[in-house]
Amino acid sequence: MVAGIAISFNSLLTNNSVLNGKAKALLKKIKINRKLEGIKSRAFHHSHEWGRKGSAPTKIILHGRIVSFTDVFSGFEGVSIVKRTFGKHVNVNVLFAKLKVGVFDGPGYVWVDEERDRLMISKKYLENGMLVSLYLDVIHELIHFKQHIDGKDLWDERYDYVDRPTEVEAYRISVKEAKRLGMNKKEIARYLYMKWLTKEQFKRLLKNSNA
Ligand SMILES: [Zn+2]
Repeated sequence: MVAGIAISFNSLLTNNSVLNGKAKALLKKIKINRKLEGIKSRAFHHSHEWGRKGSAPTKIILHGRIVSFTDVFSGFEGVSIVKRTFGKHVNVNVLFAKLKVGVFDGPGYVWVDEERDRLMISKKYLENGMLVSLYLDVIHELIHFKQHIDGKDLWDERYDYVDRPTEVEAYRISVKEAKRLGMNKKEIARYLYMKWLTKEQFKRLLKNSNA
């Protein structure tokens, strides 16, 4: 069975938004190797089922490279909200050293592959996404990864996406982090905007995530 996936379809932020001085200072500690230069990797090809409530899953073949989380993303182990999420019983340095990331060709953003215990990120998004957007998305997905470790179903079809408890928790934490970066309500709303949500769902997402 292909386990559920948690997709973060956060829209790319435009270049002139968001990065104020405070955010820049906080994000200085975060390094992202966008081009995967000098990184050990192996190729992967596997089929994946994309499903959304009320529609039949679509089977796609994903291609890309498997890399180590710490080879691509560094600095996340020092983010207090990340450490708090994993708690004192999980050593994030050890966890992140083992964590793999599938960098896939094609459209999309970041999500957790529950079946293979890894994060997945679109190559295009990794190369071109705004740093602040990538940062908040990775935090969001790390929350999902912790939920996955705790045995929670990240794709619980009993709930609408914007009301799903695992999503609400991940969005609340990423929004809290966005506020810490100094993002205002408008910038947070722009970050959270996803074109496939109805107006009503988007409103609910903003409310549920304390945006
Ligand atoms: Zn999510």
